[in-house]
Amino acid sequence: MTLLKVENVVKKFGGLRALDGVSFELGRGEFVAVVGPNGSGKTTLLNVINGVYKPDEGRVVFEGRDVTDMPPYKRARLGISRAFQVPRPFPELTVLENVVVGAIFNGGYGKEEAVRVAEEALRFVKLYEKRHQLAGKLTFNELRLLELARALAGRPKLLLLDEVMAGLTPTEIDEMAALLRRLSDERGISAISMVEHRMRAVAQLADRVIVMHQGRIIAEGPPEKALSDPRVVEVYLGK
Ligand code: ADP
Repeated sequence: MTLLKVENVVKKFGGLRALDGVSFELGRGEFVAVVGPNGSGKTTLLNVINGVYKPDEGRVVFEGRDVTDMPPYKRARLGISRAFQVPRPFPELTVLENVVVGAIFNGGYGKEEAVRVAEEALRFVKLYEKRHQLAGKLTFNELRLLELARALAGRPKLLLLDEVMAGLTPTEIDEMAALLRRLSDERGISAISMVEHRMRAVAQLADRVIVMHQGRIIAEGPPEKALSDPRVVEVYLGK
């Protein structure tokens, strides 16, 4: 069943078409990796889906509802959640408090329910043991996990992930990869992850890969197939 439809989206910055007629669909529980060189439009696409940008043309449809004109906080309440690459926690709050704040603001829960949902999210990312520690004391990898827990505390149906692997050690990358797989396998959460670094490793995890270049989708399909498309090889070899 279709969860998200992006239809003919154009987003311009002055004379530049950062997105130049992008269309794709995402199914429930599906995990899609959006890859493409720096400047190809990946971030802009995520911003159009979560409502940071309104497209100049085209539509974004979530669960059959046109959300093109809806601001980010309303989309968050519908279940579109974003986890950022550079986490920005409240350093003087504990790990648990940080996630509770996410549950209250993004999930719209009352305090008690928010704590329950937050604890559940922390267990999922394996940060539960550190719940009473100050967020400011976490390692970089733990901050990533905290950011993910914050996004999960909104009980998302669709999780938008900025580059989540950059800056992690090989072991941490494996752990994050397993975590991302569990999101869709165990939780049925759909995810769109943009990937620039360690492109092959991350793309292999995905059910489907979308390759962008100059604001357009130039290839789409199962990882092996999409990444071996001659146009994709050409873009990555820099011709
Ligand atoms: P990616 O995430 O793939 O690196 P972006 O979506 O960030 O690509 O950028 C796509 C293009 O749009 C780039 O040429 C970038 O310089 C331009 N761009 C992105 N955001 C803005 C903005 N706020 N103002 C002007 N140009 C922008």
